[in-house]
Amino acid sequence: MASSSKSNDSTNSGLKDNNSDPNDEDKPELCPGFKDVDAFVKHGFGAVLSATKASASLPQAGDEFDFYRSFPGFQEFCESQGDKLLHFMSQIMQVHGCRSHLRDRNKLTGLEERFDLIVDSNDVILERVGILLDEADGVNRSQQPVMPAGFQPPKIVVSSWNRKGSGSGSRSEMFRLLHAKNVARPQLKFKEKVDNSNTPFIPKIFIKPNAVKPLPSYFTNKQIRKERPEDLDVPAALADLIHQQRTQEHVEDMFAHPYQYELDHLLLPESLLSKPEVQMYRPMDESNFSFIDTLEDLVALNEKLCKLSEFAVDLEHHSYRSFLGITSLMQISTREEDFIIDTLELRSELYILNEAFTDPAIVKVFHGADSDIEWLQRDFGLYVVRLFDTHQASRALNLARHSLDHLLTHFCNVGSDKRYQLADWRIRPLPDEMVQYARTDTHYLLYIYDCVRAQLLDFNHGQPGLLQSVWNKSKDISLKKYMKPIYTEESYLEVQRKQKRSFNTQQLTAFRLLFAWRDKLARQEDESTGYVLPTHMMIKISEELPKEPQGIIACCNPVPPLVRQQVNALHLLVQQAREMPLLKPEVTLFGPHDTSRVSESDHHPFSADGNFIMYACHALTCWYNILEPRILKDEDSLPVAQMKARRIIESFENPFRMYLPSSDVHVNKNAKFDPSSKIFEVTNRAKYSHQQQKELEAKKKAKEEAKQLAKKVSAKGGAKKRERVPSEVGESTPKPSKKLMTPAEKPQKTEPPPEESFKPFDYSQSDLKVFAGNKSKDNTQFDPNRQAHDFKKKTVIHIRGIFCFLVQIQTSRCVNHCVFILYRGFRHNWPKR
Ligand code: AMP
Ligand code: MN
Ligand code: ZN
Repeated sequence: MASSSKSNDSTNSGLKDNNSDPNDEDKPELCPGFKDVDAFVKHGFGAVLSATKASASLPQAGDEFDFYRSFPGFQEFCESQGDKLLHFMSQIMQVHGCRSHLRDRNKLTGLEERFDLIVDSNDVILERVGILLDEADGVNRSQQPVMPAGFQPPKIVVSSWNRKGSGSGSRSEMFRLLHAKNVARPQLKFKEKVDNSNTPFIPKIFIKPNAVKPLPSYFTNKQIRKERPEDLDVPAALADLIHQQRTQEHVEDMFAHPYQYELDHLLLPESLLSKPEVQMYRPMDESNFSFIDTLEDLVALNEKLCKLSEFAVDLEHHSYRSFLGITSLMQISTREEDFIIDTLELRSELYILNEAFTDPAIVKVFHGADSDIEWLQRDFGLYVVRLFDTHQASRALNLARHSLDHLLTHFCNVGSDKRYQLADWRIRPLPDEMVQYARTDTHYLLYIYDCVRAQLLDFNHGQPGLLQSVWNKSKDISLKKYMKPIYTEESYLEVQRKQKRSFNTQQLTAFRLLFAWRDKLARQEDESTGYVLPTHMMIKISEELPKEPQGIIACCNPVPPLVRQQVNALHLLVQQAREMPLLKPEVTLFGPHDTSRVSESDHHPFSADGNFIMYACHALTCWYNILEPRILKDEDSLPVAQMKARRIIESFENPFRMYLPSSDVHVNKNAKFDPSSKIFEVTNRAKYSHQQQKELEAKKKAKEEAKQLAKKVSAKGGAKKRERVPSEVGESTPKPSKKLMTPAEKPQKTEPPPEESFKPFDYSQSDLKVFAGNKSKDNTQFDPNRQAHDFKKKTVIHIRGIFCFLVQIQTSRCVNHCVFILYRGFRHNWPKR
């Protein structure tokens, strides 16, 4: 296998990405004293090196430094040199247009603020370097991107296509993009509602073409599940879990990649490793183009694709006016034709493309497929088997840059106008310019696929190793699983930490409350959090803690519509924060389950990987909340046993609370009555179900009485046989589809413990292996093949098992370890662009 350093091999004439040419005599001096870039760089490096050496030899912080500092001469010298350095730094920052009050010692700005300034300036300078490199490379990023409406004031919204026919452009044309402000929300016409609930994503797939391993019954029975009337008042994902518990299916199936098996066993045929014949692309204006927005056309396209040996795919995405984001367009190019699919129109039908997308005999070429793979799963239930990612190829070839722009310039001599990358792709009808741009993204990709394969082989002296590694990396990408953003009690800290702001307790509280408000509203209104309240505004509000609602408005420019609408609610949150005792910055208070030191995001049960625990927690909290209201009755009227139970439960902090999304750490009663808290929602739901249960019980009682009456009447007839039937099947089932309902009901019937006395469960007897994904065939509790005749008992044991497990996680201090056992997905890596 060749190492990537081979790219410097001069024999590889195909790879010319070096750019300096120091021999040019005619060039004027770069800057005084330096004839060219090389000379300047050499000098610069020398200076930086000696400065680094000098700084390393300074007295170390701590005793040594303090000792030296006790000499006035040293102190003076330090101060004058420090001032000088700050002055230079300020100058550099000013040149780059950054804030630069580094030397302003009077300001309350501490070391941290200065550090922030430097970090910000570094970002600005590096960004500028990137842009200049791009420009030197022939890629022009300096143009304004076409932003989604709302991103910027209308006056600035200018794009080539609303300036169409510049000069002669009529007024109506000039304002075309402004109409983008009023783009109808595509979500409104989605057949299946978007699930923004704070629950993990479950694959959408329900038919699995090209399966080697059949799709688990969990997915094939989806239609039946839609008809479960008892689940209508809980989030779909939670209902699925509860249903799964009832039906004893494996949780594992719900979260697995549906094509994991096929991808794990995918072989790489010789033909894909041999040198290809590079097939030139057709000029774009000579190729056919079809816009596909009907099911008929989509079916025809699928049939066409199924006959090919490769095609190219790309997606366009909209993320500003939706919580999870919406795939708005799919581009497909064959060697002959370009297609653009209106994925807003055909969202519910696109799954049919799985036939071609998962056929291992057909290569799907993407450029930078990381996000695409996730979007396909999230929106359409589409998967890719046999992916070739040209971005991975570009990396393996060690090209100067790995963007599609660069590949287009490098291989096809075609420029693309990346301003459209951020266009509002929901706009319909799609303007010609956007169609052109979108087509460009896939039109040349099969040719590039040929070129890079040939080069990967050449590069490696004909050996297939390098090409093979690109196929493997591509396969890894196609194994990625979409993970829904999950709100946790610590989410705000991650964002806050990134801002590198030090907040006092009041500010931090405000930030936490605003963060929770924003997340909740964004999910509810199906808007991005950035649309609801951009982070920088949230920080400003938290820092200033305005006393009046008007002050909140003043922190925002432009004022987000939902902030304006809910300014009073926001004001209450700020007031709440102001009531906190004021502590020094950086004292962050957590509940007793402070997990902040557990390396967050990697193994935290709520990191994107924590699906499983998250699920268990949801189910348990649901149970906890169903049971709890019974105990939280008026204390005076409670019998002694129930009083005891109540005490126990009150002293007993919900053990899964720490793993659950909510706006407060403790389950306190106030939170339950605070409409802004998550617990309020859950409790209400629980109340509702409790109420329902009461009604059910009342009905049951009435029915029982009626039955008793009937029994008395028919007693003479000696109908003994019939008596037993209803009492066994579950007399309180007033709903249809008894087969499904029977197990569903059992947990409710088997759990009236507070009526008697409260006995903590003996956790030591539970089997924990099941949570490690162990299928343990000999385990009596979880054998899906066993008949459910003792369902009642099993459900209780099962729920207690999870409970026990969670208590153990909480009390044993090896959260990491436990989660690690459960952890089966892989980290979500947002691709760098
Ligand atoms: P592309 O693969 O370049 O066509 O990009 C696909 C989608 O990713 C676009 O429609 C955008 O929604 C999003 N996207 C691409 N580049 C960026 C970027 N630099 N910043 C934010 N979103 C981007
Ligand atoms: Mn793309
Ligand atoms: Zn694209």
